[in-house]
Amino acid sequence: MSIVVQKFGGTSVADAAKIKNVANAVIREYNNGKQVVAVVSAMGKTTDGLVKLAGDITEKPCSREMDMLLSTGEQISIALLSMAIQEAGYQSISLLASQIGIFTESIHSKARIVDIKTDKLQKHLNEGKIIIAAGFQGITRDGEITTLGRGGTDTTAVAIAAALKAEKCDIYTDVNAIYTADPRQVPRASRLETVSYSEMLELARVGAKVLHPRSVETAKQFNVPLRLRSSFNLDDPGTLVIGDDKMEIHRPVTGIAADLKQVRIAILRVPDQPGVAARIFSTLANSNISVDMIIQSLEEGNLNNIAFTVHENDLNNAIDVLESVRKDINAGEVVVDRNIAKVSLVGAGMVDRPGIAAGMFEAMAEAGINIKMIATSEIKISCLVDKDHAEEALRSIHTKFELDAKAEVQS
Ligand code: ASP
Ligand code: MG
Repeated sequence: MSIVVQKFGGTSVADAAKIKNVANAVIREYNNGKQVVAVVSAMGKTTDGLVKLAGDITEKPCSREMDMLLSTGEQISIALLSMAIQEAGYQSISLLASQIGIFTESIHSKARIVDIKTDKLQKHLNEGKIIIAAGFQGITRDGEITTLGRGGTDTTAVAIAAALKAEKCDIYTDVNAIYTADPRQVPRASRLETVSYSEMLELARVGAKVLHPRSVETAKQFNVPLRLRSSFNLDDPGTLVIGDDKMEIHRPVTGIAADLKQVRIAILRVPDQPGVAARIFSTLANSNISVDMIIQSLEEGNLNNIAFTVHENDLNNAIDVLESVRKDINAGEVVVDRNIAKVSLVGAGMVDRPGIAAGMFEAMAEAGINIKMIATSEIKISCLVDKDHAEEALRSIHTKFELDAKAEVQS
């Protein structure tokens, strides 16, 4: 019998009525003759509420205790969903990551899954039970509770689908499909029928909030067919995320997104010597801080300015680390700019089509928006702009590349 993994996000299980609605979506799949594993997030804004609560106690909560706290949200939703399924007359069992054996690295707040045990899952499925698994959480080899990073339930679902060799993984959410841009920022965003793993991965990394980046990475690695669809409209097929080789046409531009949570850090007057950049960035890497958009500009004499962006959550940590490196390498001060946004354009089809970067810069010029930094990869171009210009930049790029739908997205 084939296995289907379904993921339900926080908005889909926000209250008792919605949990019953989700129970129906699960049962519907089960009645299609499938073995079903439903992976669930915490109800509504539960996780945000817990983060806030911790903030009322301390400014710098210990990350181990933070994981202990945040992982509780999913324990509530899985128990309630399992009850709703049982109430409808079906057999089900809710399971925490520790009970399944979802093992992660020993890192708190953004751990990666390293292994998933399938024996228990398989046993329950073979007994005809529907499994309700807690998303977002994991356990280390020595029994510590970890979490996968905000939005991590997507990743739990895809990883379970890969481990069980499931036929498909459906991500149920509160939107109908993946769009060329976030409709809250670009009202005339267009629906996408399909998007490739690589494009989706880039879009998720640059700020499209529809899917957790690591879930797409895992889907790509294990070739898990992934579909994003609405839990409130079960007949809508949503958007299919598939292998790059299965895409028939490569549009020059597939989608755009803005990341408002980046900050720019510059280290001024860095001595121009071999090994200095290696020193700075390996120290950041050793503290688990990812950096993006690195540029080095030549100043007069033998001094450089080095600028890059990090996620705002890593800022305090990054400053601590850089203050000590700066003294060792004899560089000038560390300067931070918080008022920035990274606006990115993604499309697998840009590889052999010239003029995409030029078109993006023209769109910004026409809107009178200043570009502060530029970075490119094979299928992505990113520009740093002032935070309050981000939405206007998105809309202008969207129009420039003829992505606008005829009508605004109804919400
Ligand atoms: N409940 C967690 C969060 O809000 C995980 C998730 O929603 O995927 O980030
Ligand atoms: Mg959530």
